[in-house]
Amino acid sequence: MNAKTFLARLGHGLLDLVYPPMCLVCGDRLDTGTLCDDCVASFEPVAAPFCTVCGRGQEGDTCRNCERFLTETGAAFAFDAARAGAVYGGAIRHAIHLLKYREKESLALPLGAFLANRLTVGKLLPEPVAQVVAYVPMHPKRERGRGYNQARLIAEPVAEILGVPLLDNAAFVRTRHTAPQMGSSDRARRGNFVGETFAVADETAVRGKDVLLVDDVYTTGATANACAACLKAGGAATVRMVCLAAASG
Ligand SMILES: [Zn+2]
Ligand SMILES: [Zn+2]
Repeated sequence: MNAKTFLARLGHGLLDLVYPPMCLVCGDRLDTGTLCDDCVASFEPVAAPFCTVCGRGQEGDTCRNCERFLTETGAAFAFDAARAGAVYGGAIRHAIHLLKYREKESLALPLGAFLANRLTVGKLLPEPVAQVVAYVPMHPKRERGRGYNQARLIAEPVAEILGVPLLDNAAFVRTRHTAPQMGSSDRARRGNFVGETFAVADETAVRGKDVLLVDDVYTTGATANACAACLKAGGAATVRMVCLAAASG
């Protein structure tokens, strides 16, 4: 061990004494990590019957949200399937909020691992799950402001656990700065995505590939739809969408 590594480890050890590791969601003491097993165990899986379009739990074939979207746009979603790791609420909602708005980017690793587990063990999607993992890109200006793109941080462990490459940050980009989604109405939110918001900058990265698109929260499906349409225009064979959590349809 060189001096720098030693000092870094010593620093970590001292930090652990002053700030012992704890679950960022419930505050319980932890030996290591930032999210406890109890919190992860409390994430509520999406229960059957599923909406055939977005994969959320609902009554009937298509959920109200998908039905409304399809009626308003007059077209089917561009993605081939959409699935959620859990129902948006409780501990996962808290964890996602901390990750997105409280700079707790260390939560992306356990959250991404949870999602990968839902894909592999939970069989959220038929295998093989993907040939390449993509994520909803953030506009560079916004990413600089936040310091990271949480969708990419979630996608990293997903790609690693699935054993497939993660799409390069420059290959699939957001070209237009859109207003933050919180607080905007459904209609305005959809309006945000009219036009060319995303672009495939490197078609060789997606051409002919089965793409898994990762995001944090699924709401109307508008973002996933715009991304999937763009990836397919760039040559992707299939685009399946998976998010950490989805609000009930
Ligand atoms: Zn906890
Ligand atoms: Zn639906």
